[in-house]
Amino acid sequence: MVKICCIGAGYVGGPTMAVIALKCPSVEVVVVDISVSRITAWNSEQLPIYEPGLDEVVKQCRGKNLFFSVDVEKHVSEADIIFVSVNTPTKTQGLGAGKAADLTYWESAARMIADVSKSDKIVVEKSTVPVKTAEAIEKILTHNSKGIKFQILSNPEFLAEGTAIEDLFSPDRVLIGGRETPGGQKAIKALKAVYANWVPEERIICTNLWSAELSKLAANAFLAQRISSVNAMSALCEATGADVSQVAHAVGKDTRIGAKFLNASVGFGGSCFQKDILNLVYICECNGLPEVANYWKQVIKVNDYQKNRFVNRIVSSMFNTVSGKKIAVLGFAFKKDTGDTRETPAIDVCKGLIDDKAKLSIYDPQVTEEQIQRDLSLNKFDWDHPAHLQPLSPASKKDITVVWDAYEATKNAHAICILTEWDEFKNLDFQKIYNNMQKPAFLFDGRNVVNPQKLRDIGFVVYSIGKPLDP
Ligand code: NAD
Repeated sequence: MVKICCIGAGYVGGPTMAVIALKCPSVEVVVVDISVSRITAWNSEQLPIYEPGLDEVVKQCRGKNLFFSVDVEKHVSEADIIFVSVNTPTKTQGLGAGKAADLTYWESAARMIADVSKSDKIVVEKSTVPVKTAEAIEKILTHNSKGIKFQILSNPEFLAEGTAIEDLFSPDRVLIGGRETPGGQKAIKALKAVYANWVPEERIICTNLWSAELSKLAANAFLAQRISSVNAMSALCEATGADVSQVAHAVGKDTRIGAKFLNASVGFGGSCFQKDILNLVYICECNGLPEVANYWKQVIKVNDYQKNRFVNRIVSSMFNTVSGKKIAVLGFAFKKDTGDTRETPAIDVCKGLIDDKAKLSIYDPQVTEEQIQRDLSLNKFDWDHPAHLQPLSPASKKDITVVWDAYEATKNAHAICILTEWDEFKNLDFQKIYNNMQKPAFLFDGRNVVNPQKLRDIGFVVYSIGKPLDP
């Protein structure tokens, strides 16, 4: 029986390993983590992350061929294939601060693998890492173990939160990069055999290590770039009377461009896009390619601009002040169908409104009050000027109320601000909401989920990203 161990039981490690266990009943999968609370949650009825379909998959395999444990060293030493899916955040201090990936967790995992291994192993980079990381990992492993052979593979994960299980069941592609040596090719074959249990052969792409590592950064940069492109257009649409949905539809019909991922919004978020682009920027700079670095930097600048633009639109529409006004924030997660709030644009928008002394009443179906209070009291990291961290005024608790119902959030509010495209927001009784709001009742739709005309007919003053403004 092949034994797989995954280090890191997070948004990637948990779901990917659950699906491998489900699809490969003859493989034993153990997911390990240093976080006791995370492992306890994975072993309970209340999983640590919300992801549609995940509960069912975990229930089917847990205790059979899927296990979650804090006994990291034991399971690493027993495994044939070790996936490393630890966090690789942006460095906040020292060389490369604000851009480079922080590989502290990775290095500590690699040293531990070298330390406890007593047989040859395949070590798989599941985390998103800078190109050439495998070279560093190889050195750490070989210099810290006695005679054990390690083959390093790059197998970046392309799942999107909110559709992780769907993406894992039917991936567009599985990418495996390895050394072009007999050992490297043998390792690729072994990992390919795992995925071949459910992924069609033509979707499994095998490359050299550096192409695989770089492809993950490139894919995220391209995806984020599409969002910044359509968001940049949204500003021009508002200035000219064009409608961004119509423009995106017309542009996306071109088969060279394609229709997916062309929704204008308040901005992208999540733990990956910004981090991975910053990492790409850093790699370009280190390789003497400042023009290429500047090109990708612009994707983040447009994203920041979009968030600021949204806040400014709210304040200027509401007679240039939101001081003391109740604003209902609907949605806080960085996208629908997840409870993840890492880098969510809601943080910047809420902080911008709090800076202007608004009173926020926040509702998100999957985000807790604790998460929101924590996110809003963190300092914003200024990636462009890492030496000058900008401490934002700490959001005073009294200006933020977190409620468990959209109707409660909007009661007596001066404005509604939609920041996540949860399906339930489309079906709210807006007449009832309007009746219970201050007038004029403003609605700022940062995700284009409502029909602006229907809401205008009720009496709302509506602003939708990239759409013609109120007549
Ligand atoms: P996460 O923070 O949710 O999970 C990482 C886990 O690793 C944490 O639970 C942490 O406790 C654990 N960990 C850290 N060091 C450890 C160690 N030495 N031993 C054992 N456990 C350790 O992160 P995530 O969202 O799952 O992302 C993991 C990686 O995958 C990142 O590199 C990320 O860029 C990449 N990725 C993320 C996504 C996504 O949508 N979240 C998608 C594709 C790729």
